[in-house]
Amino acid sequence: MAINADAQELAALRSLSANIGRDPHLTQAAGGNTSLKAGDTLWIKASGTWLKDALAEDIMVPVAIPPLLRAVEQRDPAADQPQGFAIEALNIRKLRPSIETTVHALMPQRVVLHVHCVDTISLAVQADCEAQIAKRLDGLEWAYVPYRRPGLPLAQGIAERLRPGVDVLILANHGLVVAAETVAGAEALLRRVTGLLARPPREVAEPNLVALTALIGHTGYRLPADVKAHAAAIDPESCRMASGGSLYPDHVIFLGKGSVVARSGEDVMRVTERCGTAPAAILFPGLGVLMRGDASPGADAMQRCLADVTARVDVAAKLNYLTAAENDELINWDAEQYRQKLNAAGG
Ligand SMILES: [Zn+2]
Repeated sequence: MAINADAQELAALRSLSANIGRDPHLTQAAGGNTSLKAGDTLWIKASGTWLKDALAEDIMVPVAIPPLLRAVEQRDPAADQPQGFAIEALNIRKLRPSIETTVHALMPQRVVLHVHCVDTISLAVQADCEAQIAKRLDGLEWAYVPYRRPGLPLAQGIAERLRPGVDVLILANHGLVVAAETVAGAEALLRRVTGLLARPPREVAEPNLVALTALIGHTGYRLPADVKAHAAAIDPESCRMASGGSLYPDHVIFLGKGSVVARSGEDVMRVTERCGTAPAAILFPGLGVLMRGDASPGADAMQRCLADVTARVDVAAKLNYLTAAENDELINWDAEQYRQKLNAAGG
């Protein structure tokens, strides 16, 4: 009976995961992940896979919970390599569990959803995030977790803030976690919290496609896959926020450190010369965005995300950017290099 019930919940979770994965306001590219605990086994989304594929493909990996939690508690670096805790006999596709597996293992509830909700991120990059969230989530059992690199550092940050009864986590410069005993309960909580955190984006003008096409010329650059990505360059406030640096980890993973904004009169070649390299994306203020020809689907998804996030940030807010060291630890991180490799292979 218990096994049957777990199988039903896992099927329900895959269906919910696919829905979450298809909503660019909740997840982008290989970001975000979902899990179900069945006894001592955690079924968690595989690293580098996309939640939107949760029904079409088997993207869930089984992980042994007790040894992973022991490793977190003992600050054992092994906890940063969750693939070491995968139950290989059940891991048919030999995928690696998500780099955020420890986040899910630490939550006591059976079902955990972690999303890169753009409304949440837009608040989570503001220096006054905690006060802003407190106003909106009054009455809910939530906890604020200061920014740490995903993996063992984030797990330790969560462990420090977790109290009994907490089922909502706001991860600074990162995203949202909700947890419940059932898939239906987790979905209801996700809808409730994202509804409370929702705020309207600033209106933005259309991209100047004629000017952008002229800039493309023979540079090998192209228009973004999603027309909504242009807003980060068109809206002056969004462009200012983007130019300040990296706001959350997946931006660094898929687009590199910060955003490259063309200066007055610069074309693609001039920008590339100034940077010493061809950036994955170039923002042309007032016109729109160009993507490098070989930019991955993940890079396109994250460029759209940047537009969605910055359009929601309070223009008067002070922003927290990732520090140079925080950027570097993401770029040089093995687990992320693996995820980028899978993404480059077609995600
Ligand atoms: Zn995340």
